[in-house]
Amino acid sequence: MSDKITADPSCADPFDPSSISLAEALERIEQRVLPVHACERLPIRECLNRVNNEAVNSPHNVPSLPNSAMDGFAVAIDSLAAGGVTELEEIGTAYAGTPFNGNCERGQCVRIMTGALVPAGTDAVIMQEQAEISEHGKIRIEADHRVGENIRQAGEDVRQGETVIEAGARLSPADLGVLASLGLGQLQVKRKPVVAFFSTGDELVSVGEPLEPGKIYDSNRYSLHGMLSRLAVDIIDLGVVRDDPDSMREVLSKASSQADLIISTGGVSVGEADYVKPALAELGTTEFWKIAIKPGRPLTFGQIGASIFMGLPGNPVAVMVTFSQFVAPAIEALSGAQAHRPALFRARALEAMRKKPGRTEFQRGIATLEQNNQWQVGKTGKQGSGILTSMSRANCFIVLPDENAGVEAGDEVSIQFFDWSN
Ligand code: AMP
Ligand code: MG
Repeated sequence: MSDKITADPSCADPFDPSSISLAEALERIEQRVLPVHACERLPIRECLNRVNNEAVNSPHNVPSLPNSAMDGFAVAIDSLAAGGVTELEEIGTAYAGTPFNGNCERGQCVRIMTGALVPAGTDAVIMQEQAEISEHGKIRIEADHRVGENIRQAGEDVRQGETVIEAGARLSPADLGVLASLGLGQLQVKRKPVVAFFSTGDELVSVGEPLEPGKIYDSNRYSLHGMLSRLAVDIIDLGVVRDDPDSMREVLSKASSQADLIISTGGVSVGEADYVKPALAELGTTEFWKIAIKPGRPLTFGQIGASIFMGLPGNPVAVMVTFSQFVAPAIEALSGAQAHRPALFRARALEAMRKKPGRTEFQRGIATLEQNNQWQVGKTGKQGSGILTSMSRANCFIVLPDENAGVEAGDEVSIQFFDWSN
């Protein structure tokens, strides 16, 4: 009998058998969210953070011709003596953008600037610092130089036909530079996903209105707006929606006609006056997931027509955790970007942390570099899911995985910096 009791799940168990893991939730999201199809052609400066549609292959070599990596003297290596010093006659100068047009013969050299084409008849550039000018104006160079020295070869950066930017890559400042180096002024990128969001709750008051007893200011719309603004999406703020079925239906049907992704906060806890799920079920499909994470356990996932719906919890920290772990990947999938997971770093815990196995916890941490260049991390005080300052004081999540059963000071933990936008 006692065996049976321990084998049956009870509400005292830290592990909820009906919940799904973080990894399982991510997998489901990536299965259900399809990328937008439409594309637009934009000047490359407007392509920053956008998703490249088709692989970019280089139309030519970069650099297109061999040029000098240094200021110095272009020479033919076989005109230098095998030992000792060789004196050469300087016959002209090659500038970046203005080549030296003659041919360099035996016994001669050409003064050359960084970026200038390597003159005909030469195969190495001797750094200015390694050459001497004699009394008679001759250039004196010691032995022991090699062919190709200080020369950037044609195609060294990019070979003609080589793929320089993959389809699905999110474009970085360096990518824009690479495109410019190929002479490409425009690029085809996926259109931005449109993301609409709203808050639910009769207790919510918008900033600027007086706060009556029992009411609270709506902070979720501001943190959500901030997180969305870091991503390449178009944003629609649908305001606060009252806890009643008609308002909920109305906002959902309006949002689904405009947005690829609809995000709500609040009203998804079990057992409360909850109007999100019934309205969603009427207009489309709905799934309710309990995810084995803390904070942020409940998540409603649904579809209305072509729009994806994600119902986040109401607690302000849970909103930010679920956004970073689920909404950001959903937006990546919608954007048509190659999937990636936020990087985890190892850090030494500065304090003990209590934790039950069976779920992944996201504590809010302040990570700093120790003198030996290792990360160390401490918590930002109280960690309740309503304590939003625990988030604003932090620079990272301390990610304690499912199997972790608590941390002692000095233990190694994983941290995830707050840069889920890139
Ligand atoms: P709910 O999921 O609607 O039960 O909300 C859980 C908790 O989060 C409650 O204490 C709410 O008052 C709070 N909450 C919900 N929405 C917001 C919001 N937009 N801004 C600040 N707190 C909120
Ligand atoms: Mg509520």
